[in-house]
Amino acid sequence: MQAIKQLYKIGYGPSSSHTIAPYRIAEYYRNEFPECKRYEIELGGSLALTAKGHGTINIISQALGTKNIHFNYDFETVKNNMFIQGFNDNEEFPLWHGLSLGGGAVKIEEYDTGDEDEVYVENNFEEIKKYLNENNTDLLSYVYAHEPDLKEYLKKCLKVMYETVIKGLNTEGLLNADLNYYRVAKKLYEKAEVRKDYLVAYSYAAAEENAGGGLMCTAPTLGACGILTSLMYYLHFNENIDDDKLCDLLAIAGVFGNCIKKNASIAGSTGGCQSEVGTACAMASAAIAYKEGFGLNTIEYAAEMGIEHFLGLTCDPVLGYVIIPCIERNAISILRAYDCAYLAEQLNNVKGNAISFDSVVHAMNYTGNKLAIELKETSLGGLSLEYKYAKN
Ligand code: SF4
Repeated sequence: MQAIKQLYKIGYGPSSSHTIAPYRIAEYYRNEFPECKRYEIELGGSLALTAKGHGTINIISQALGTKNIHFNYDFETVKNNMFIQGFNDNEEFPLWHGLSLGGGAVKIEEYDTGDEDEVYVENNFEEIKKYLNENNTDLLSYVYAHEPDLKEYLKKCLKVMYETVIKGLNTEGLLNADLNYYRVAKKLYEKAEVRKDYLVAYSYAAAEENAGGGLMCTAPTLGACGILTSLMYYLHFNENIDDDKLCDLLAIAGVFGNCIKKNASIAGSTGGCQSEVGTACAMASAAIAYKEGFGLNTIEYAAEMGIEHFLGLTCDPVLGYVIIPCIERNAISILRAYDCAYLAEQLNNVKGNAISFDSVVHAMNYTGNKLAIELKETSLGGLSLEYKYAKN
């Protein structure tokens, strides 16, 4: 499996697949061929279908430092391709074929980004548990032994998460004219009294900031960033948990996100929203269970439950914006993560879990493959279609 660090990328919203990944591909190209004055770019699959709503065009212009770009779109392919070629007055530069893999990860045929480097030899949670048993170690030590620089990096992520929520809580007004969506995080915060209310307000703050193109941290994607971001903010500012401990929680959460990334997908365009919000819910459930001091079986049970009841969740963002259903869904998911952690503890005391974490991930992969393309971040079906019908 790849580094857990890869699950927590810092970049601009609203979608890690559609903003962070294209930005990175464009930036690598620009650094390699700085003489280019104009570009031809072809976007494919979901990158093409939601280019406007997901802010892909703007972010690419930003990365290349010019608007002198001609865009073509391939709506036929299901692959999130990004072909890029640069030119100047009398020279033609190489054509690159990039792919957005989900969570801001990229693959470029002509350039090694290091995104696909393997850091862990274990392939799933069963193998990780076997390693822990054989080496008489615990999950956190296992992670830090493989990624000694992870904690320092996660501290930077926490800083971004805090700033995101603070900004989101202090911003009001119109977020999106096409949807007539006005920000509500500040109002929610002003009315908050109990944990549930605060989590919802923080989650809205993060998700609204993301939808507005703010600087965010993926966890494991930007569409689902409000879940772990709100949890970290709540635990730090409402429960006084320090950054050191919160990094441990993110590391534990990352183990489960990593297993999903390896054996299913964390991209809405590949597996539907179960892959984004479902994964983030599983990660947050595991983090909460760990924070509560529950044992490894309960942590696994909580993570499993976090996905199990999101299986089949579709990705059908209205008008291609990461707003409806995304913002509300983030809030629901962080509440569910708390339920999963406590319910897992309760149930684990009276019975074992019939479905292992690896099994639910397997089912998630199966389900994601069966989902219609209209329900995988193309805005061609589901809620997106209903909204269009209702408006016409
Ligand atoms: S519906 Fe889910 S997967 Fe799709 S864009 Fe929204 S948060 Fe991401």
